[in-house]
Amino acid sequence: MIRLWVKDDLAAGARVALEQGQAHYLRNVMRLAAGEALLVFNGREGEWRARLTADGKRDAALHVEDLVRPQTAVPDVALLIALVKRARLETIVEKATELGVRQIELLTTERTNADHTNLGRLQAIAVEAAEQTGRLDAPSVLGPEKLSRRLAAWPAETRLMFCDEAGDAPQALAALSAPAGGPWAILIGPEGGFSPDERAAIRALPAAVPVSLGPRILRADTAAISALTLWQAALGDFGGA
Ligand code: SAH
Repeated sequence: MIRLWVKDDLAAGARVALEQGQAHYLRNVMRLAAGEALLVFNGREGEWRARLTADGKRDAALHVEDLVRPQTAVPDVALLIALVKRARLETIVEKATELGVRQIELLTTERTNADHTNLGRLQAIAVEAAEQTGRLDAPSVLGPEKLSRRLAAWPAETRLMFCDEAGDAPQALAALSAPAGGPWAILIGPEGGFSPDERAAIRALPAAVPVSLGPRILRADTAAISALTLWQAALGDFGGA
């Protein structure tokens, strides 16, 4: 069944006005007719069955009926990713959403060679991936922010899985084997890697857990997908929690 992320509050009997793009998607792309059912979620109040109302062409709306699944949260893990070229960044946002990341933060670093990005488009990609993957929330896409600023204000309780390509970090599954609750973040560098100063600053954080993703240098998108998969397997919800 079609799943649609909406901004509005959801409750039995509620009317949800659709944005133009959503109305176009439901009527013209998915060919949904008035009275037909779909699922809606907003990241707060679970997943609800709703029906497309018979309103006029301009003001399409949904009528919310009943709760199908109560709200659940994905594990508390954020992806911190240095800006890379647009196509790769879009892949990372889509795949990280599928793999159950809670939040995506874009960073600029000393060797970042892309400095502008379309946050709105990346957020839309995250929402679309959340719709198709069955999760009940969509990760927020934030930033870009300077790595040095982010590190300077690092919250002590958030552990940082530092994906360090330099080769002397412990293998990821071994490094993540100690049980560790609380929030986590995963840090991936730009195509040019981290500078020596940046590596030192990251490793100096008491919360940093440097990891290797194997003996090969991975592109940022492969590194992000691999790191999130390993984290989910070791500490997240791949075990079915
Ligand atoms: N140009 C750099 C590679 C950067 S790859 C070099 O040649 O050294 C982009 C990012 O992916 C890295 O900063 C790191 O965070 C991650 N990464 C890639 N391969 C990795 C590996 N084998 N282990 C850990 N992290 C890796």
